Amino acid sequence: EVLVVGSANADLVVGVERRPGAGETVLGTDLAVHPGGKGANQAVAAARLGAVTALLARVGDDAHGALLRESLREAGADTDGVLGGPTPTGVALITVDPSGDNSIVVAPGANARLAPDDVVAARALLSRAAVVSTQLEIPLETVVELARRLPPECRLVLNPSPPAALPPEVLRACDPLVVNEHEARFLLGASGGRAGSGSVEEAAWAAALLELGPRSVVVTLGARGALVASREGSEWVPSPAVRAVDTTGAGDAFTAALAWRLARGEELVTAARFAVRVGAVAVTREGAQRSFPTFDEVGGVAKG
Ligand code: ADP
Repeated sequence: EVLVVGSANADLVVGVERRPGAGETVLGTDLAVHPGGKGANQAVAAARLGAVTALLARVGDDAHGALLRESLREAGADTDGVLGGPTPTGVALITVDPSGDNSIVVAPGANARLAPDDVVAARALLSRAAVVSTQLEIPLETVVELARRLPPECRLVLNPSPPAALPPEVLRACDPLVVNEHEARFLLGASGGRAGSGSVEEAAWAAALLELGPRSVVVTLGARGALVASREGSEWVPSPAVRAVDTTGAGDAFTAALAWRLARGEELVTAARFAVRVGAVAVTREGAQRSFPTFDEVGGVAKG
């Protein structure tokens, strides 16, 4: 079983001709409202693939919370751990310009209330999990509690997004730490490593990230796939070549797929070979959750 612990947001999307400057108002397109947030995205992605999946998250007792529960249920995820309350559901305010570039402001709302005590209270969900997957759109102390309460045989998959400095006890629990290039640079910089030079070889990144303490590391490299590293060495897992139309949520689809295959007992490299195919399908379709494939849909994608 995969337990995702993370954020759930309503993505409020408006198309604009150009972004407003300070003090300026521009008219946009009609508002589109989509279920999002990295936690909810990962839970939907895993469930749609066929994983037995639960989400531990906080939403508000409002329409956005209902939308999120509905999308999770539709994908087949267990929503017993999606807790309600008076604080409004988190919202991402997204403007998209004609070139497809977006600007995003997030109001964390109920996500900021997902507390260490919620992890303690989720004992039953945790005990059933073979893999727990989490991110940093929830309070860091909640992630720390999770690392402490991980059942003995359970793996922690952490995608440190948005990037933040991680306590050693969290880093040591990661198996793997999953980062994109931006997050890798941040973590290496925050640790006094070879930050932001842009010239560092990716294999060297993976090795440097391993030195921070995680049991294994996966660096996702967009169209080039992913680099997988552990004490035994590192291996590049190429992505299938696809025509990308929208990369939103690709990292979440990748990480969810990885978590599922690890929960099934696969080796990290084998799991990553499946995950790049899931990520590749996700980028060929518009949107985040809407772009996530079923297991059968992944079958048709050539191996990289
Ligand atoms: P993030 O979305 O977090 O920035 P990446 O851009 O590295 O992370 O993408 C995550 C994964 O999604 C990649 O490892 C790859 O499997 C897949 N992916 C992303 N962009 C593409 C692309 N253009 N073509 C094929 N696969 C892609």
